[in-house]
Amino acid sequence: MYEFSLSTPTNLADAVAQQQDSGGKYLAGGQTLVPTLKLRLADPGHLISLRRIAELRTVSEADGFLTLGAGLTHHEVARSVLVQHRLPFLARMAGAIGDPAVRNRGTLGGSVANNDPSADYPAALLALGARVVTNRRELPADEFFQGLFATAITEDGDESELVTAIRLPCLRRAAYAKFKHPASGFALIGVAVVQGDEDQVRVAVTGSGFGVARLREFEAALSQRFAAESLASLSLSPDEFASDSATSADYRAALAKAMTADAVRQIIQGFF
Ligand SMILES: Cc1cc2nc3c(=O)[nH]c(=O)nc-3n(C[C@H](O)[C@H](O)[C@H](O)COP(=O)(O)OP(=O)(O)OC[C@H]3O[C@@H](n4cnc5c(N)ncnc54)[C@H](O)[C@@H]3O)c2cc1C
Repeated sequence: MYEFSLSTPTNLADAVAQQQDSGGKYLAGGQTLVPTLKLRLADPGHLISLRRIAELRTVSEADGFLTLGAGLTHHEVARSVLVQHRLPFLARMAGAIGDPAVRNRGTLGGSVANNDPSADYPAALLALGARVVTNRRELPADEFFQGLFATAITEDGDESELVTAIRLPCLRRAAYAKFKHPASGFALIGVAVVQGDEDQVRVAVTGSGFGVARLREFEAALSQRFAAESLASLSLSPDEFASDSATSADYRAALAKAMTADAVRQIIQGFF
């Protein structure tokens, strides 16, 4: 690790000012950033911890939306009674991230800002049509996530911008099906399916290797008829998936279809 200093602001305005003064990096749960520092892959000089900022840790509901503070840990999202009631699939998803140590430290905002191509939240947010709130703006998930580890924040290059909250429509007919990488627990493939108002369906996949994405052909078929059988004649191109040491593009493409069907069945059987 290179040497660094650490500050622990207790409000957002101070956190942003400290980033602007130091040019440092925000530290949330540290589950990605700390290993990166240990490997000397980053040398930020100064870290601004977000853990003591109470305004980043709230949960509220209004006008059919849940608003979750970016500083909530995965464990807190999983245990929130409001999330369990309004978006039960999200509570279950958060409760299955990594292991207890990761869930007790890792945060919603850290995961969304990092946009790891195998992370779970990006798929859930994209399928829900959630909105990402930062200290500067509010963006639909479709615009926020922009590829491998890339987001509207990283693309715009203002390092003081931070995710403050996520606004999620309370759409109960939603499910997430994940095929875990046996070693890391990350998604080898994870698919979120949401049936919204007027039966419009949104489907998003994580783990493809190219960043979170919607599966438009599946969405069209499932919006016509919401049944796993609607996918029978469809297949995903392996060109949209990566091959690596874990598995092949062909297998990932097949898994994405199987996980979509699994999520559809969960919704039909009322497991949401
Ligand atoms: C062993 C292991 C298993 C895991 N398994 C899974 C899994 O199954 N599924 C899954 O989805 N994830 C998994 N993760 C990832 C983990 O869940 C964390 O969400 C992720 O590491 C980032 O969150 P964090 O709060 O730790 O962020 P940090 O590591 O603190 O920060 C990550 C990056 O985001 C930036 N950042 C943090 N917060 C904000 C913010 N609010 N606004 C702007 N930028 C910010 C930081 O500056 C840094 O660049 C796993 C991690 C580990 C170590």
